[in-house]
Amino acid sequence: MLYNVAQLLKESVGASRGLIIDGELYDLDEHNPGPVPVCGELTLVRTEDGILAAGFAEAVVTEECRRCLEPVESAVRIEFEEEYVPSIDIETGAQIPTDESTPELVINERHILDISEVVRQYIVMEATTALCRQDCKGICPQCGKNLNLGPCDCKIDNVDPRLEILKQLLDTDSQ
Ligand SMILES: [Zn+2]
Ligand SMILES: [Zn+2]
Repeated sequence: MLYNVAQLLKESVGASRGLIIDGELYDLDEHNPGPVPVCGELTLVRTEDGILAAGFAEAVVTEECRRCLEPVESAVRIEFEEEYVPSIDIETGAQIPTDESTPELVINERHILDISEVVRQYIVMEATTALCRQDCKGICPQCGKNLNLGPCDCKIDNVDPRLEILKQLLDTDSQ
């Protein structure tokens, strides 16, 4: 997901381009080695210091359900907005020092802006909220059984600590 921004860097602040995102991501995480197709839209805007990249991207990724840990395919849509800075002055060719802590936001010496790493990070963050289904029952905290497959043999008295207060209230009521 590379964009040549040489021309845009020569333009004045506020100049912009509307572009299509159509690419593939690799190494999202252990469940998604890739290629994972990604599509979306991107707007690049010339700023004082570089180029603002804003847009959205969509991908279908495989994740663990956050309750039962079973693999689940989920469609993820992210919106992003990041400012990229040049490593070479477009007019003079001189090197520009860049922030080493954010290498993914540096436009390279051939004036190529790469949104892959930013989109990858946003998708990984978003994908951690996956559920296999809205009413997923999760796993039993005691025996680890996937409760979507049926109840486990743990004693009903072993109430989830978060439900303990409710259980006490019910017990009080029935006395
Ligand atoms: Zn689940
Ligand atoms: Zn159990």
